[in-house]
Amino acid sequence: MNNAISIAYFSMEIGLESAIPTYSGGLGVLAGDTLRAAADAGIAMAGITLLSRKGYFRQHLDKEGWQSEEPVNWPVNDYLLPMDAQASVELEDRQVAVRAWRYDIRGSSGHIVPVYLLDTDVQDNSDYDRTLTDQLYGGDDYYRLCQEAILGIGGIRILRSLGHTDIERYHMNEGHSSLLVFELMAELTQQLGEARTTTEHIDQVRRKCVFTTHTPVAAGHDRFPVSLAYRVLKQCNPFKDCAEEVCCGNELNLTHLALAASYYINGVAKKHRETSRKMFEGYQINSITNGVHAYTWASDAMRELFDRKIPDWREDNLSLRYAISIADDDIWQAHQQAKRRLIEYVNKTCNAGMDQSIMTLGFARRATLYKRTTLIFTDVDHLRTIAHHCGPLQIIFAGKAHPKDSQGKALIHEIFRIKNIPNNDIHIVYLPDYDMETGRLMTAGVDLWLNTPLPPMEASGTSGMKAAINGVPSLSIMDGWWIEGCIEGVTGWAISNSEQQTKDSAPATNHEANIFYSKLENIIIPMYYHNRDAYIEIMKNTIAINGSFFNTERMISQYVTKAYFR
Ligand SMILES: *Cc1c(COP(=O)(O)O)cnc(C)c1O
Repeated sequence: MNNAISIAYFSMEIGLESAIPTYSGGLGVLAGDTLRAAADAGIAMAGITLLSRKGYFRQHLDKEGWQSEEPVNWPVNDYLLPMDAQASVELEDRQVAVRAWRYDIRGSSGHIVPVYLLDTDVQDNSDYDRTLTDQLYGGDDYYRLCQEAILGIGGIRILRSLGHTDIERYHMNEGHSSLLVFELMAELTQQLGEARTTTEHIDQVRRKCVFTTHTPVAAGHDRFPVSLAYRVLKQCNPFKDCAEEVCCGNELNLTHLALAASYYINGVAKKHRETSRKMFEGYQINSITNGVHAYTWASDAMRELFDRKIPDWREDNLSLRYAISIADDDIWQAHQQAKRRLIEYVNKTCNAGMDQSIMTLGFARRATLYKRTTLIFTDVDHLRTIAHHCGPLQIIFAGKAHPKDSQGKALIHEIFRIKNIPNNDIHIVYLPDYDMETGRLMTAGVDLWLNTPLPPMEASGTSGMKAAINGVPSLSIMDGWWIEGCIEGVTGWAISNSEQQTKDSAPATNHEANIFYSKLENIIIPMYYHNRDAYIEIMKNTIAINGSFFNTERMISQYVTKAYFR
């Protein structure tokens, strides 16, 4: 018998573990960390996502840094339990059968949060429909809308088929799953014995829905031409009955559907709340700042140190504040152990020849324009001169570009071009196939974490939080979480651009690159090599001040009190 579920958490991607490629980046990792924290806290929650049988993709980089993609074929049976549940979703004139697999997330005291992964690869479906749950963010608009109907509508039906009929809240992690609103409306219409769905039904399902938006630009939201929506959702009565109200102009915008149908809406950092309020006028938008699952992202060495010095830290992340009183040498040794593992890994994987004693910088994120991967190389000669005079540097990069993002691919190629110019003072490596495992190695093992997005595009960002748990300070643009997490010279350093309106312009980028160079040259590299005590003090602050706060234990408790049950 299934345990009762009171919150169903829908996400197009969920990062369960490194070997299960059902995530592409921050959104999925956050979803996984959220459910891991819910399991620790004993919350009656379940996750719903797609199986992504072919994963996102495996990244291959050639000698010049050009990316190609391979599908991942992962052994579904080894990781997941097939469920008896059956459902079907009407797409155009077809009935597409959906089944589900289960993955159990076990919390620190044994509570289980199940994750249901939806699968259309069943015998009765056409060859095309069998591929609908193969590829994360693959295919065209048609494929994508079909996927989203499977996720939203199929997800609710699978939950019902599993016996979950008393769910109190439906949490949409980004708008991809918002077609679930139509299914809730259809259920309601049927319960009430009414013939047509009306907008009053939206008012009634609204009490059950929570929506978290993650995308600070209008163009990033999921939209479909109305004609395509009519074609795919041809048998979906709530859509047809309410199309005029839920469609904006010629589009079905899944974000707007989620906004219209949720009683609690939030952005993922305070600044992101402001950006979202401007983007979605007329909605009350709150904020709950993201976090990371502390235990998952702490290196083995840091886990051991915390276990010894702060025994409750795993169940009580707030107690990481006591990191402030851990001996400098203990912190340094634990960090060295994490750094050694990273250096060994890059040396083995990329034949990099990196050196444990050299200050090492890390930058890992999706290769896409707004992340500005190449900002730190705005003036390569200047950076080399700094390293020559202040002390040598190693820089480790990682990150995938979406297969269709040719500009993102060009960024990786550009890093390779710079990397391949021989130089004694700066040693660069680009680690292929960024995933949760390499992310964990990198955020724990480097000495300084970098982030240089174009504001206000970084809704939150979470990799710097993983670094903080491991005592690794950040040097980052003031955007997303870092506006809340940066105390200058205490938890890290800001690249702030207050003098000018930040635009995607060369002068703005030059200005920011100069701040980056100047802080490295005048403060950070000298401190690292010549005032180690001061550097370790900052490392401890990052754990005590930021690790204790930017975690999913704090985050999930805010969702419970502010969003789910207020
Ligand atoms: C944490 C993580 C991300 C998100 O990092 P950002 O700082 O938000 O860009 C993306 N991919 C992987 C594999 C991660 O572990």
